[in-house]
Amino acid sequence: MPMLHGCAFPGCSTFTLSTYCVEHELLVRAQKESERAHAADAALAADAAMTADAAVAAGVPDVAAP
Ligand SMILES: [Zn+2]
Repeated sequence: MPMLHGCAFPGCSTFTLSTYCVEHELLVRAQKESERAHAADAALAADAAMTADAAVAAGVPDVAAP
């Protein structure tokens, strides 16, 4: 059975059922997604050419094709 406990965020004493209170749950989630987005940006940059090739292979219509 879940128990109320203090938010795990330093300096926050809001009671919550999850690790963080709602405010800090959103804050921590936003930070994680920001880090993931940066990592994805790096991966996308490395794979940019491959991604373009994949788009062609996926059947993007070529206007110049007969
Ligand atoms: Zn909190």
